[in-house]
Amino acid sequence: MSRPTDHEARELVIQITNDLFSMGLLTATGGNISSIANEEGTLWITPSQMYKGDLHADDLVRIRHDGTVLEGSRKPSIEYQMHARAYEVRPDSTGAVHTHAPVATAFGICNQTFPPINTDAVFLRDTVTVPWIMPGSRELADAVGEALVKSRGAILQNHGLMTVGPTLRKAATRAMLLEETAKIALYVKQFGGEVSLLPDEWVEKLAGFADFV
Ligand SMILES: [Zn+2]
Repeated sequence: MSRPTDHEARELVIQITNDLFSMGLLTATGGNISSIANEEGTLWITPSQMYKGDLHADDLVRIRHDGTVLEGSRKPSIEYQMHARAYEVRPDSTGAVHTHAPVATAFGICNQTFPPINTDAVFLRDTVTVPWIMPGSRELADAVGEALVKSRGAILQNHGLMTVGPTLRKAATRAMLLEETAKIALYVKQFGGEVSLLPDEWVEKLAGFADFV
């Protein structure tokens, strides 16, 4: 794993925040994005409460895992503990994404799991659902950390989702795939006809490629 420069990390956090916001996966102030920083044990994270549609590199904050601010004048996201925990349990990760994506959130509230309806659903089948825990709490950070040991994506019931990746782009891709696949699962239920699933032997073959996200 190569560490990004601080300039690269900040540019990527802004780019991904803009992408996710334009896709409707972040709400006006809900959701947060981070990247590991150049100095080990520190990360760049989006600020607390600010409107997510117009963030700039100088709005980002560099913190230690305990929340100590090292650079930037804003207050770090209240979910900084969840991001710090994600990097601790997945030391190969360089980026983490927390969104309030509407369909994936509703999917989690209704205790849904991904049936093998397409290739992405097979790749996401190890996704863990974490029950409701107060946002911004140490308890939530610990529960999400435990879930991220089993999968690089977790759905947070009554809240949103969290992903990590070897690159921030990959973490964002997984967050996007979770929303898109939850949407298709919803449409399948709405059509309500006979559901055609991928054949078992293909599910097994495809599961071998799941690491790509
Ligand atoms: Zn949240």
